[in-house]
Amino acid sequence: MHAEIIAVGTEILLGQIVNTNSAFLAEKLADLGVNVFYQTVVGDNEERMLEAIELASKRNDLVILSGGLGPTEDDLTKQMVAKFLNEKLVENKDAMSKIEDHFTQTGRQMTENNKLQALYIEGSKPIKNHAGMAVGDFYKGDSCDFLLLPGPPKELKTMFNKEVEHLLKEEYNLNSHLESKVLRFYGIGESKLVTELKEIIDSQTNPTIAPYAKTNEVTLRITASATDDKSAVELINEMEIHVLSKVGDYFYGYGDDNSLKNVVVTKLIEKDLSISASESLTAGLFQSTLAEIPGVSKIYDGGYITYANTAKSDILGISPEDIKKYGVVSEETAKQMAQQTQNKMKTDIAISFTGVAGPDELENQKAGTVWIGLAIKNSPIIAKQFHFAGNRETIRQRSVLSGLKWIFDEINE
Ligand code: ATP
Repeated sequence: MHAEIIAVGTEILLGQIVNTNSAFLAEKLADLGVNVFYQTVVGDNEERMLEAIELASKRNDLVILSGGLGPTEDDLTKQMVAKFLNEKLVENKDAMSKIEDHFTQTGRQMTENNKLQALYIEGSKPIKNHAGMAVGDFYKGDSCDFLLLPGPPKELKTMFNKEVEHLLKEEYNLNSHLESKVLRFYGIGESKLVTELKEIIDSQTNPTIAPYAKTNEVTLRITASATDDKSAVELINEMEIHVLSKVGDYFYGYGDDNSLKNVVVTKLIEKDLSISASESLTAGLFQSTLAEIPGVSKIYDGGYITYANTAKSDILGISPEDIKKYGVVSEETAKQMAQQTQNKMKTDIAISFTGVAGPDELENQKAGTVWIGLAIKNSPIIAKQFHFAGNRETIRQRSVLSGLKWIFDEINE
């Protein structure tokens, strides 16, 4: 089932109004399982409207037009579709009495052109307009059907929701239920994700998967259609298992409005695991990121910002000799920072950040070289080296996110 949406109106072409009707219709049609491969915008011009109608009718089962059903001279949609179909326009009695009542009630004089709004294409099914005057229209053609909807978004939406959705389901036996799920990934770029999932992407039909690159992360939307919600969810779950078997190492959560910080803080609260941190290059960014999540006080009391070497010695008690011996950007310093933080704050987890935010090198190490230390109660302290590209801001942000992802991997089960 293929449909094309034609939005009629010179105002749209001129950018004076935004074509929200097509966006609304496209989303609704996708939910119904109708394929929309083309959307057209055409001005209020007879010749070009006829051309657009003809082209759309050749490549679709259904053509949906929005706009141009009104009483003014530039409202030509009904007339042009009728001309193309070689049909007459006839009066819809209900619509006409509604228009007449409106003018009687408002005490205004009804003019000839107001009657245009009550016309529909002979042989078609008039569609009631609950929010305005102009009657809609559904015409069943030999090879292509036509649906004519009013331009004002309130009228179009009300007509679609109250009349058209049901009509389309009946006419085309549409019984598809659409479900979708968003998976979120950190530590993998969009192109690598697509490469890893190439085989799945190349053979996808139902469910479909669509990757989106976001700042510092990638999301993947899995969408399935089936005859009922349960079957659609089952299809998604199967696909999710397949996807995670390839790129599960980078996965951290679900949903359009989610984030790594949210997932980690929620998990820490759920598992009642307290956390503290000592930060050099991130200078408090990690802790301030945690503090963005409501409820964090249940698991976070505080920590340290130890930017200079003296602060690492004075506050955390790391010996200046060790810093000199191993270097401040080193595995040993990261481990000692995490260890001392955990000792002092007595938390289940302590994380440390030391590295080169740049742009200059430090201790002959390039900007972006970062060590993160992690002390988890009853486990050996580990430090990992990371190499981040980008400017200071990006390097500091990625340090924080990589720390969060590491914690997620440790506490998720
Ligand atoms: P009317 O009876 O009000 O003339 P109509 O069906 O003839 O309605 P148009 O004249 O084409 O529709 O458009 C009326 C108004 O509806 C436009 O001025 C605009 O504000 C809005 N509109 C029309 N088309 C769209 C669209 N595609 N997206 C968003 N708004 C639209």
